[in-house]
Amino acid sequence: MDSKKTILVVEDEPQLALGLKDALEFEGFRVLTCGTGREAVGLAKTERPHAVLLDLMLPDINGYQVCQEIRRSDGFVPILMLTAKSQEADKIRGLDAGADDYVTKPFSVGELVARLRAIFRRTQPRSETQTLNIGEAVVNLSAHTLQRGSTVESLSFYEVELLRLLHERVGQPVSRDEILNKIWGLEATPTNRTIDNFIVKLRRKIERSPDKPEHILTVYGFGYKLAL
Ligand code: CA
Repeated sequence: MDSKKTILVVEDEPQLALGLKDALEFEGFRVLTCGTGREAVGLAKTERPHAVLLDLMLPDINGYQVCQEIRRSDGFVPILMLTAKSQEADKIRGLDAGADDYVTKPFSVGELVARLRAIFRRTQPRSETQTLNIGEAVVNLSAHTLQRGSTVESLSFYEVELLRLLHERVGQPVSRDEILNKIWGLEATPTNRTIDNFIVKLRRKIERSPDKPEHILTVYGFGYKLAL
C-alpha cells in the first residue's frame, strides 16, 4: 500500500486510545487520536480521515453530537461508534445522528480491524455506473449524494452500499442475512434492526410517502426489494 489509510480515534480513556493506536498502526494504518469531542470535529475537518472510531462518552460533547457535527461537513466518512451501551435505543439514536456502525465494549481489536478492512475493500474505486435512478431520486455513487426534486441530501457509506446492493438485484428480494454479510461483512453485529433503521432513513430520502413505499419494498419475513 503506497498511501496509508488514516483512522481518527476519538477516545478519552488514555489506555484504550493508546492500545487502539498501537494495534491499528501495527496493521498499517495511520492513526490520529484525540480525547475530546471538540478536537474530533476539528480533526475530521482538517485531516479528512478515511474512518472515525468514536467513543460515545466523552468529557465535553458526547459522541452523538460529534457525529452530527462531522456529518455536517462530511456525509460519507464511515463512523464507527465505540460504546459500552448495548441498548437498542442508544443505537437508534446514534444512527439518527449519522453513525454507520457500532462496536460494543469490550470488543476485540481483531474484530475492529476486520470491520475496517471490509469497509476499505468496498470503497476501492469502481468503474461501473456512477449514478442510480430510483423513482424520482438520482443517487450519485461517487459524490455520495441523493437528489430528489430540488433537494440534495448526503448519503453515508452504508446507505450508498445498501442502495448499490439492492440496485444490482433490482426486482428481486434480497435477504437481511445477505445484506448483513455483504454490507457489514461480519455477522456478529449489527442486528436486523440496524438494517431496518437504515431502510427507514433511506425511505425518508427516496420515497414520496415513506409510509407507503413504492421503491424500497419490504418482503415480509425475508428482507427487501428495490423497484425502480
Ligand atoms: Ca469515554
